[in-house]
Amino acid sequence: MIDVIIIGGGIAGMEAACTLHDFGFEIIILEKDKHLGGHLQNWDTLFPTKRNASEVLDHYVKEVQKRSITVYLNTDVTSVTKQDNGSFEINTSREVVFKCKTVLMTTGYDLFNAERKEEYGYKIYDNVITSADLEKLLQTNKGELRSPSGNPIKSVAFVHCVGSRDEKSGNHYCSNVCCVTGVKQAIKMRQLLPEAQVFNFYMDLRMYGAGFEEMYREAQEVWRVQFIRGRLSEVAETIDKRLQVKAEDTLSARPLRMHVDLLVLLVGMEASKATGDFAQSCNLACAQNRFVETADFHIASNKTNVEGLFTAGCAIAPLSVFDTVNHAKAAALTVKEHLRLNN
Ligand code: SF4
Repeated sequence: MIDVIIIGGGIAGMEAACTLHDFGFEIIILEKDKHLGGHLQNWDTLFPTKRNASEVLDHYVKEVQKRSITVYLNTDVTSVTKQDNGSFEINTSREVVFKCKTVLMTTGYDLFNAERKEEYGYKIYDNVITSADLEKLLQTNKGELRSPSGNPIKSVAFVHCVGSRDEKSGNHYCSNVCCVTGVKQAIKMRQLLPEAQVFNFYMDLRMYGAGFEEMYREAQEVWRVQFIRGRLSEVAETIDKRLQVKAEDTLSARPLRMHVDLLVLLVGMEASKATGDFAQSCNLACAQNRFVETADFHIASNKTNVEGLFTAGCAIAPLSVFDTVNHAKAAALTVKEHLRLNN
């Protein structure tokens, strides 16, 4: 019987697969997408180093290939059921039933659908995009960067906390990485468009990781990004496809109105649909925020309420790439210990 089936072939899944393989276990990765890599495939650069995301992605894909780890792509998991002997059966969209001793869920996250915040005009106005769209634009852009409507970009506004810390969208939590993503993208816009003005509208700035605060200072001191404490109340399109935004500067308590050529919504992370789809089949406990509830937040964050079913990465909460890799390594150690005790 297979030792570990890993559900999800993003960085958490690939990191854990390689580490577990090197411990001598037999691994299978089930990935719903047609490629390995998860969301990392869609990022242009990573904070705080600004290195190309493709370097990290290529590293992991090569490591998986080097070890000849079995990967099933285009495979949705429909149910995970625990057997009386403690092993697991996994049903998939391929109509193949996989059997294994342990399961590691690295099902990641879904990006918040910005259409749910109608007031920002996403998918209504051409030049309102999300932070993920901007990454895609930067990945594929050759030559001068223009707005989706084809206009030159003379001003850009970023909106923080879209779909996070927001009662209306049902997500009270902070998504952790969108502040630093906004800083990274604001710097990039100033680098590509030195004449453009760049504004970041925030509630609080959360620069919790190594190198994040330094990047925030760089954005202000070197790149003259303007950070405005305030929330946008309204966005409207003008006849020339520019965007009129209304906000309140909450530090000076003054209303503010401006025109920008591009509005970027820093969308948060939500628990992935993939997790929810099979959680019920194995009685997996999820927290109120719909992410997987770990057995013990501080000392067993890779264990779940189901013995033999483990988790890593953004399945438990919004995490950076740095934290995801470390959490996945810890998961591999936890699974190894479980297999040692139960074999
Ligand atoms: S990281 Fe920043 S932008 Fe993202 S939810 Fe938290 S405070 Fe808002």
